[in-house]
Amino acid sequence: MRFPVHITVDMIKHQVRNGLKRQKRYPFVLMLEPLYTCNLACLGCSTERHTGKLKDRLPLEKCLQAVDESQAPAVSICGGEPTLYPELPELIEGIIKRKRHIYLCTNALLMDEKVFGVIPPHKRMSINVHLDGMRETHDYVVDRKGVFDKAIEAIKKAKKLGYHVVTNTTVFKETKIDEVEELCEFVSDLGIDGLLISPGYQYETVKEDMFLTRQDTERKFKRILEISKKYRLQSTPMFLEFAAGMRDYKCSPWSTVTYTPNGWKGPCYLIGEKFYDTWDEFWNGTDWDYWESRLDPKCQNCAMHSGFEASVVKDLGKSPKDMLRMAAWNIFG
Ligand code: SF4
Repeated sequence: MRFPVHITVDMIKHQVRNGLKRQKRYPFVLMLEPLYTCNLACLGCSTERHTGKLKDRLPLEKCLQAVDESQAPAVSICGGEPTLYPELPELIEGIIKRKRHIYLCTNALLMDEKVFGVIPPHKRMSINVHLDGMRETHDYVVDRKGVFDKAIEAIKKAKKLGYHVVTNTTVFKETKIDEVEELCEFVSDLGIDGLLISPGYQYETVKEDMFLTRQDTERKFKRILEISKKYRLQSTPMFLEFAAGMRDYKCSPWSTVTYTPNGWKGPCYLIGEKFYDTWDEFWNGTDWDYWESRLDPKCQNCAMHSGFEASVVKDLGKSPKDMLRMAAWNIFG
């Protein structure tokens, strides 16, 4: 199966539970950013995400409170670089105790010191390694030589030690899709458990002209849709078709909620129009109808999985054919 059975079962239970309560909107993923400190300053990353001081990190209790409040079955721990978060082992233990699934998003530079031998492998935890291309491209994007080789060593070691590992690649304007395919083949040979490929989107505080227009995304994702037939991509075929401009969805910004050192970020992972101190202020104070409509100019070029994968799931009920396709994609993937 493409996703482990317990993850699939928990996701289905979550949908059934919310369906029975007639909830129209509910989070699937919590993007938890416990700190805005990083050991890299990648070109595609927003400035605030790597310039924060460690002392301004979220306290452990606040992180766990966010997990409880959002009720999302999956928690993506990102940042900043989460392996720099001193309370990471306790945070992971607390999330696992709450029976949620964890994606630990990392540049993999500190795996030896902070993960291996410190945080044991667990069926509820996936290590999500950032890789934006082969050696030359990745080292250019992260603005430091040697990072690609270090990440590959960490992936090999993680697999040997029994961790569940996926890679996470962002496609920028200059990204060559032939190189993405080369990367897919290379990391698949290392025995990784899945690959996530997303279109790059211009964060408000990133100045570089490296992001895709909607037309760029469509062109590049038509090729990625082909590539997805050969490798274990985590994106659903319907989402890839959407990114390739072959179908349309409303956005579901409420499906991926983001908690940061500045509070709850609204309306979505990408746009911080407003930061809220409390969950209730965020959840009840965001105009979801407006952001679902994608009418805002900031939504123009966006095709992020954080906004649209839940729309795919939501619309499955409208098409038995899509439902069967999705089941086959997961079971035989
Ligand atoms: S379309 Fe993109 S930018 Fe707009 S609300 Fe949805 S996820 Fe956010």
